[in-house]
Amino acid sequence: MASNGNGTTTVIRNGTLIDATGAEATHNEAVVIEGNRIRSVGGLPPDVNLEDRDNVQTIDASGQWIMPGLIDGHCHLSFGFPVMTGVASAKGTNSPEFSSLRAARNLGTILRSGVTSVAAPGGTWFIDVALRDAVQAGLIEGPRINCAGRFIVTYGSIADDEPSWVGSPEHKLGKLCNTRDEMITEVRRQHKHGVNFIKIADSTYGQTQTFSREELTAVVDEAHRRNCPVTIHSRGAGSTRDAALAGMDWILHADLAEEADLDAVAEAGSRLMPSATFLWRAVELGEQFGRPQNEIDNIRRHAEGTARVLQRSRELGIKILCGTDSGNSTPMPYGELHANEAEILVKYGGYTPMEAIQSITKENAYVIGLEGELGTLEEGKLADIIMLDSDPLADITVLQGGKHLTNVMKDGQLVNLATGDDNFLPFQQVGF
Ligand SMILES: [Zn+2]
Repeated sequence: MASNGNGTTTVIRNGTLIDATGAEATHNEAVVIEGNRIRSVGGLPPDVNLEDRDNVQTIDASGQWIMPGLIDGHCHLSFGFPVMTGVASAKGTNSPEFSSLRAARNLGTILRSGVTSVAAPGGTWFIDVALRDAVQAGLIEGPRINCAGRFIVTYGSIADDEPSWVGSPEHKLGKLCNTRDEMITEVRRQHKHGVNFIKIADSTYGQTQTFSREELTAVVDEAHRRNCPVTIHSRGAGSTRDAALAGMDWILHADLAEEADLDAVAEAGSRLMPSATFLWRAVELGEQFGRPQNEIDNIRRHAEGTARVLQRSRELGIKILCGTDSGNSTPMPYGELHANEAEILVKYGGYTPMEAIQSITKENAYVIGLEGELGTLEEGKLADIIMLDSDPLADITVLQGGKHLTNVMKDGQLVNLATGDDNFLPFQQVGF
C-alpha cells in the first residue's frame, strides 16, 4: 500500500505491467508519476530517491497487475434510474435538482470500481455538463466525463414516447426536432451550453429508420463545423449505413447491420460501440422484470446480432469501442457492469483479452476526446491507473465490479477506495 508522502511523485514498483499499447505484459520495475502525468515507465530514474518520503510516495505492486484506468464509453449519468420510492418521477426522476444530486453521488461509485473516465451519450437537461465541470473543478469526486446533451430525436425515434400533443417535455431524454432547421438549431443550442459531442437517436430497436441521410448529414456538418463530434443510437441496418455515409464519428449498437452496411462503416472510418452489455443483461433479467417472452426473444436476436457485428468488424478492421449503457435503466446499476463489454468482446466477438483491454482503455480515449493522451501507460500520458490482485489477461471478468482492485489512480491522485458510501442504490423491480 501507499506510504504517506505528501510530494507529487508516486512510484509504482514491481507487479506486471499491461501498458495497453499492444505490447506483451511485462515485469514492472517502476512507473513514475509526477503531477497528473506519467513521467516514465521502465527503470527507476536516478534522480528519484525512494527514501525521500516527504516527496516520493511508493506503492509496492508485487503480485499485482498494473493497467490503465477503465473507460466506459457509454454510461448515462442523469436518466434518473432506478425510480426511487417517494420521489416524483415520470419514466425517470423529473427534478433536475434531485437528479443532479443523485448523479453526483453515483460518480463516486463509478470511480471506485476502477472506471476513471466515462462518456455520457445523452442525459437530461445539462446535468452531465455540470457534473463534468464539478469534477474538473475538484468540487466532487468522480471519473473524467465527456458528454452529450439530450438526444436529438424525431417522431418514431427512441425516447419519443409521448403522444404528439405532449411532445418532449424538459425532463425527457429526447428533444423532438421535426425539421432540418430545428435539428441544426438544437445542435447550436447544445453546443452553446457546453456539450462535448452531439447524440442523435434513431428508433428503439431499428424497426424503422426515423432520420433521412440528408438530415443526418446536416446534423453532422453543423456539429463538425463547431469541432463537435456526433454519435447516433442506431440499431437498424439502413440507419447504420446512412450514419456512416453522413460521417458520424461513432455509431452506437448497429445490431442489425449486414455485410454491406459494415463495409460502408469500414470505408467511412466510423467507429462502432455495440454496447451489448445492456442487451445480454435484459435477456438475463427480462423475465424477472416482467417482460413478455416474445420481447425477450427479440432482445436476444439483437444481442446475437451484435456478436456477428463484432466478429465481422474485427475482420474489416473497424475500431470497436467499449460501452455498456450503464445507468440507462433499473437493471444497469453503477459500479457493477462497466467492464462487462470487454468480456463480451472476448466471449462473443473473438477478441483476445489484450484486444479487449485495449478497447476499454486506449481505443475508448477517443470518446473522451483524449485519443493519444489517455488510455495507455507510457511516458507523458495522463496518469489514470488501476492495480488488480488478479490477471485480467487470464480472466477478463476480474475487471468487473471493482472486486479485484487494490488501487485506483485518476489524474495522478490515488482514490481512497475505503471511503464513500458504497451501497448501491436500491434495486427496485420497476421495469425497464
Ligand atoms: Zn444509451
